[in-house]
Amino acid sequence: MDHIITLNSGSSSLKFGLFTITGDDPVLICSGEVESIGSAAAHISAKTTDGQVLVDTSSEALHDQASALDYILDFLEREFPAARVAAVGHRIVHGGPDNDRPILLTPDSLQVLEKLEPFAPLHQPYNLHGARAAMERFPDAKQVACFDTAFHRHHPWVNDTFALPTEYYDIGVRRYGFHGLSYDYISDHLANTAPLIHGGRVVVAHLGNGASMCAMIAGRSVGSSMGFSAMDGLPMGTRCGQLDPGVVLYLMDQQGMNADEISDLLYRKSGLLGLSGMTNDMRTLEASNTPGARNAINYYTFRIRRELGALAAALGGLDAVVFTGGIGENSTYIRDRICTDMGWLGIELDHDANADNRRVISTDLSRVKLMVIPTNEELVIARAAAAQIG
Ligand code: ADP
Repeated sequence: MDHIITLNSGSSSLKFGLFTITGDDPVLICSGEVESIGSAAAHISAKTTDGQVLVDTSSEALHDQASALDYILDFLEREFPAARVAAVGHRIVHGGPDNDRPILLTPDSLQVLEKLEPFAPLHQPYNLHGARAAMERFPDAKQVACFDTAFHRHHPWVNDTFALPTEYYDIGVRRYGFHGLSYDYISDHLANTAPLIHGGRVVVAHLGNGASMCAMIAGRSVGSSMGFSAMDGLPMGTRCGQLDPGVVLYLMDQQGMNADEISDLLYRKSGLLGLSGMTNDMRTLEASNTPGARNAINYYTFRIRRELGALAAALGGLDAVVFTGGIGENSTYIRDRICTDMGWLGIELDHDANADNRRVISTDLSRVKLMVIPTNEELVIARAAAAQIG
């Protein structure tokens, strides 16, 4: 039976899924993750869709990306010997200015995507490494690249540019936007389950460890809080979000920091972690009463509310807000903080529905519908891969 593997390779983690393609839509049968690759805490876990744990162990064999991928592929072959891998779907963070949909990976298209590595140095090289390894391991399978940027590629020019001399736009210094696979899933889900909302003006808040917001009209992205890199916009677990570029100049010129040190500060030591001085984990912050934890949550929710106003202005009004991602799907408290005193925008939270984590969490009288929809980026990748199998 034909199967699809999905791979989502980060710098220190590697998520994977195995799908069958018997019917219309790919069906997940097993998923897992390797975390903390390269450290003493490197760990792999995987379970079947019905919750059976297949592996949950630390291993010295997970010492780098390549060995982690080998480990996963060996594991899948051992556990599912009858699976015939017809396609492998890869999450690739950057598709550049032209790719507005998934593409088939070939040695040539891989080379083009390698040229984008300087645009996303912390993600793209790992994504492409995973793709090359899968091509070697499954030479007969279709290899499909799904881009985080693709969903945003038809932004109006004013949302695609910075106010720099135009030659910088021409060499690719643009506002790309990210988390496109998540927004693609939400857009498709709304089209199938709430077509009237899908046809309207919607802001989707993807609030996970990474976080961004996307403004959609009729299911298509017209604006994103993220720009050139996956660092812009909202504060995140460890990323700073929007920052005055003057700060970067000051850190370089006056504090003597080099590019690597600044990158480490802005990508790994800032956001909720930097503000709280404690953790990037929202659950821990919510449970804590320290001033740092309170400040981190205050700043986080303030910036989300500010961005919501900005995106509503870009949309010319607002019909719905969708919460997704680990925090958006689960945190009653953060949703409450975001939606409180937002009546001026037509938002009225139903506190009981919010506390129950219901799908619709606005009151009947709320002009703006508030929804909670779990995202499923892996399914978007699997669907794109399935579409390439003849
Ligand atoms: P990633 O971007 O790495 O996929 P997730 O979407 O899994 O991350 O989101 C991780 C975040 O979600 C963490 O900050 C975690 O604390 C938060 N989270 C998960 N469940 C809850 C919950 N019940 N309440 C508050 N925050 C939660």
